[in-house]
Amino acid sequence: MPNTVRANVKVKVPRPDNVIFGHGFRAIALMPSLKRSSSSRPSGLSSRVSEFHPAVTLYEPAVEQESPRRSKRVKREPTEAKLEDLEDLIPLNADEEDVPKGEASSFSATASPKKSPKKAKAIPQSLATPHPAPVKWRETYDTIKEMRSRIIAPVDSMGCDQAQHKETDPKNRRLATLVSLILSSQTKDEVTDAAVANLRTALGGSITLQGIIDIPESQISEAIAKVGFWRRKTTYLKQTAIMLRDKFEGDVPKTVDELCALPGVGPKMAFLTLQVAWDLNHGIGVDVHVHRITNLLGWHKPPTKTPEETRLNLQSWLPKELYRDINHMLVGFGQVICLPVGPRCDECELSRKGLCPSARVVKSKNRKPIAFIKPEEAKPTVEIALEEDSSDIKPEVKEENLT
Ligand code: SF4
Repeated sequence: MPNTVRANVKVKVPRPDNVIFGHGFRAIALMPSLKRSSSSRPSGLSSRVSEFHPAVTLYEPAVEQESPRRSKRVKREPTEAKLEDLEDLIPLNADEEDVPKGEASSFSATASPKKSPKKAKAIPQSLATPHPAPVKWRETYDTIKEMRSRIIAPVDSMGCDQAQHKETDPKNRRLATLVSLILSSQTKDEVTDAAVANLRTALGGSITLQGIIDIPESQISEAIAKVGFWRRKTTYLKQTAIMLRDKFEGDVPKTVDELCALPGVGPKMAFLTLQVAWDLNHGIGVDVHVHRITNLLGWHKPPTKTPEETRLNLQSWLPKELYRDINHMLVGFGQVICLPVGPRCDECELSRKGLCPSARVVKSKNRKPIAFIKPEEAKPTVEIALEEDSSDIKPEVKEENLT
């Protein structure tokens, strides 16, 4: 005999109280004493309480539907978007850029042809209440100018004013200046300079309007690929070239309002274009350095929030003959001495003279000294001023830095 004990166990199952068939259901009834639970439910069936008796549960074939339970696992979207994809999503900072907000949609390459281009709006030229001239501004200005004469900054050899020198035709010179400025926003001078050179090569050796119109966008993009927002700027260059051809007789316009009507061009670029391309001194080109440094110097009360506020304040009191110089002077000063991150207050004359309220103590142990040019090494500059409306023109020669 196997050692098996057989036990007859009888389980007493209570008799169901109600069994209902019919009503089109494949139904069984459960005893009211049994707890309704999802585990007791036959699979593939859905349940509901009978409308005839609350103790009766009816089962019917389940209708396929999505489970309401949500997975705890979070579905992750790919996070590493390509830089070029992000580019168009990053809003340009109006403080640092000349590209007005919302412009991308108005001028995107895929924009509907029904959309009209940016409308020209008048650029304000003065404040209702002029800002007073800051105390000791002249001494501060001259001190920066003196320091600036002893440093070499990237803007000196690669600024927007340099792009024109490789062109001979006057229209192309002006166009090259405008192109350089459009490419320069949010981009270092070195990168802009290289991009302008690449574009010139792609256009066959000269930056011409027809060349920009004819060349495929992909080739422009390839040439300017290293500048910030290159995709958007590719579109701007194309659209600008077409606007210049159709509305401005193929030349760069001569007013700030017309310039600001071009895609990608704002007041800073417009004033600089007028100064460099047309030698017109109508306003100050306020870029991020001018905006930042004049605020550090405490020249704005209260501090300004945008380059446009800075421009209007400065234009209230700065002599007009300095409008052009202040940009170049402060850009170079900001590139070498008053750096955006870690300004070299330890090497700054303004700190020594107590002219800068933002001066700070710098631990200069590990910092490279700034390579100031000795006065005797500075190149002599000769400026020749011609007196106008004089039949007997005698050149007046001013000599500077001739020590
Ligand atoms: S003292 Fe410092 S913060 Fe002030 S201008 Fe000079 S470098 Fe800039």
